[in-house]
Amino acid sequence: MKITDIRMLRLWGPRNHGVGGGETRIAKVIVRVDTDSGVYGLGEADDFMGVRQGIAYMREYFRGRDPFTVNAIISEMMYGTLAPHHAEIKTGVMPGDIIANNMSSPTSTSWGPVIWAASGVDIALCDLIGKILKTPAYNLLGGKYRDHARVYLDRSSPEDVTNLDAWKKLAEQTLSLGFSQMKFDIDFMATEAVNDVWNRTLSLKQINRVVERLETVRNVAGADFEICADCHMQYNVPDAMRLTAALKHLNLLWLEDPVPIANPDSCAEVRKKSDIPICVGEMFNAEQFRLFIDHKACDILHPDILFCGGMHEIRRIADYAELNHLPVAFHGNGGALATVAAAHAGVACRNFIGLEYHFIETSWIGEYVVRDVPLFRDGKVLLSDAPGLGVELNRDVCSRYLAPGESLFD
Ligand SMILES: [Mg+2]
Repeated sequence: MKITDIRMLRLWGPRNHGVGGGETRIAKVIVRVDTDSGVYGLGEADDFMGVRQGIAYMREYFRGRDPFTVNAIISEMMYGTLAPHHAEIKTGVMPGDIIANNMSSPTSTSWGPVIWAASGVDIALCDLIGKILKTPAYNLLGGKYRDHARVYLDRSSPEDVTNLDAWKKLAEQTLSLGFSQMKFDIDFMATEAVNDVWNRTLSLKQINRVVERLETVRNVAGADFEICADCHMQYNVPDAMRLTAALKHLNLLWLEDPVPIANPDSCAEVRKKSDIPICVGEMFNAEQFRLFIDHKACDILHPDILFCGGMHEIRRIADYAELNHLPVAFHGNGGALATVAAAHAGVACRNFIGLEYHFIETSWIGEYVVRDVPLFRDGKVLLSDAPGLGVELNRDVCSRYLAPGESLFD
């Protein structure tokens, strides 16, 4: 069996979430891998800078390959090979003005657009292989430990952060939807108290407002409800420490990315003094997680299936965490397809504790694929025995939200 095509479909629509709860717009990329058997696989990628070009490059580089060699394909994309490389790739300008160069692997750089593009293709290949073998994708990763993936809801903040009733309403809505965990964004929670947007500080006034608003949420949600807070890699070490001390009484499940990424030593400093578990890594690859674990810089790992290399890489990261007796939660900024893919991977990881979802207020993002069960039930993604990821595109929703110049797959 050979890969005959790797195609993309870009969707574009409103996004009612985050950044204070106001409406923005967002794009999502659907990936489709076709084969000469007629069976195809679906994946998802985020529409970040360079991702669509990366997927177009993969189309030229990997057409003709056996889709069952998914680990070799993704590994070659991210880490390269030794010469003489793959003989079938011809150097030159291919359709779409993409230059595929057989003198090196696609990029051999496991960062940024390369790994984000590879993630979408890996997900599509897992769907494809599951369909061919007539088995759910979680069975390709060793089978499931559980029948569902618990979901935690990202709430960011209400639109009017100074209105405590809005915070209460956000907490009440999360409970009424059946979720048992939610997360807020420290950097958006008290924007009226930010002194300087550059110097990575948290003023005492800002910390006090954050505490007051999270106390409101805790009072509504009750003592048993899991609450997390995200710093988006924004703060300096002493203010991050001050924040962890001020939030201690709220019994948070985790404080996320308190300091800028890529420096395990500064994060380890915060972790050493923190009574709140420190969760890191939504943009990390496997090597970066290894670094943070080895430097004792985190308590909970937070890979994203769209940013770490896909379903096989997220499993590899979870396995290293498990060997160090650490849990993994999956960061999730993806839509319905990515969420189902992450759930398949999550149920197959022993140390998996939950999966994030951002778009509960933006229904089209949860509806652009259909499957035999709803996307969520009782705050969980349930998984059936359907082969592959068990999803097909919802052509009505996809055609309604096609980005300019796009058309549905034929
Ligand atoms: Mg985060």
